[in-house]
Amino acid sequence: MKLHEYQSKQIFSRYGIPIPKGRVASTAVEARQIAEELGGRVVIKSQVLVGGRGKAGGIKVANDPAEAEAFATQILSMEIKGLPVRKVLVDEAAAIEQEIYLGITNDRAFKKPVIMASSAGGVEIEEVAKTDPDKIVKMHINPLIGIKDYHARDIAAGIDLPREHWKQFGEILKALWQVYNDHDATLAEINPLIIGKDKKLKALDGKMLIDDNALFRHPELSEMRDTDEDAPSEVEARKYGLTFIKLDGNIGCMVNGAGLAMASMDILKLFGGDPANFLDIGGGAGADKVSAAMRIILSDPNVKAILFNIFGGITRCDEVAKGILIAMAEVKPKVPMVVRLVGTNAKEGRAMLADANMITAETLADAAQKAVNAAKGVQS
Ligand code: GDP
Ligand code: MN
Repeated sequence: MKLHEYQSKQIFSRYGIPIPKGRVASTAVEARQIAEELGGRVVIKSQVLVGGRGKAGGIKVANDPAEAEAFATQILSMEIKGLPVRKVLVDEAAAIEQEIYLGITNDRAFKKPVIMASSAGGVEIEEVAKTDPDKIVKMHINPLIGIKDYHARDIAAGIDLPREHWKQFGEILKALWQVYNDHDATLAEINPLIIGKDKKLKALDGKMLIDDNALFRHPELSEMRDTDEDAPSEVEARKYGLTFIKLDGNIGCMVNGAGLAMASMDILKLFGGDPANFLDIGGGAGADKVSAAMRIILSDPNVKAILFNIFGGITRCDEVAKGILIAMAEVKPKVPMVVRLVGTNAKEGRAMLADANMITAETLADAAQKAVNAAKGVQS
């Protein structure tokens, strides 16, 4: 889950990282009022969950409240990389001497968090990695030790930060690590961290990614979720506790267990098919979850066939069958459906579906082949 800039910076601020004074606005009039309160020059910043807002014209410096209102009007009517701008952050404008990049992310290969820093801040770090890889300093973090002064000094020296800023840089780096750790983040990034003309460091931009699997520990963060950039079917699936990812193929998949779901997709591909989604209904799903899942799959107009692959362990095949029947009565699907039920109460489940005009299959390979043929409109 991504947090907006203003949300990330609020969290940073609570941990003692200096940020510009400012507030978020949903209308141009509000933006003007905030500009009046702040006095002086302000930056109007689109709050959308994509990078490169500056380049896209989504960030503008206004000299007075009237200009702030005009820019806010303009930015609030923009779409950036397909996302509508619904809010702008109005921040006190900063006088910048230098822009630095500072971020902490997960390094999966090393199984450790890693600090990344660069004197070439302001531009996206992927860009720096391409054009100027030597300008990026990396250091892995041992989570049991955290960040000590000597780590911070090494990084500061590595990016040629003038010595007068080392102390404040160290405080900010330690705070960023706390932010990262406390929120189960997979990214906490300040880009740019600026050295101001006033010789002070400040986080001008903020970005955080939170591990979705840890969100149950952070209800206050779940509430901040902006679903604007998620597929509507994914938003709906989340409500029912389904793990669903929309894909571009034409065979809808309903499977229990993430591993089995992946295997089902692989086998569809092997036989020349193309899955329309990843869906794990989870262990022990009842009829309500199954019918919700089916509605979600069928809401995708690309879907030409559905493959049900249920291995009943904790999940009972008769419950799944019941869910399928409920959903069929509701949505009256017109696409062919291939079902493979094995395991707990499979016999009962199959009996319930006997009159449902479904294509039955015994093995996964058999089921996948039948689904691929069905999606092509071939009888099998
Ligand atoms: P991003 O383009 O989405 O990463 O948005 P940022 O918040 O990082 O802003 C992009 C760039 O705009 C920064 O790197 C700065 O160069 C510039 N910028 C942002 N805020 C200010 C400000 O208060 N004063 C000045 N002079 N420049 C700013
Ligand atoms: Mn930025």
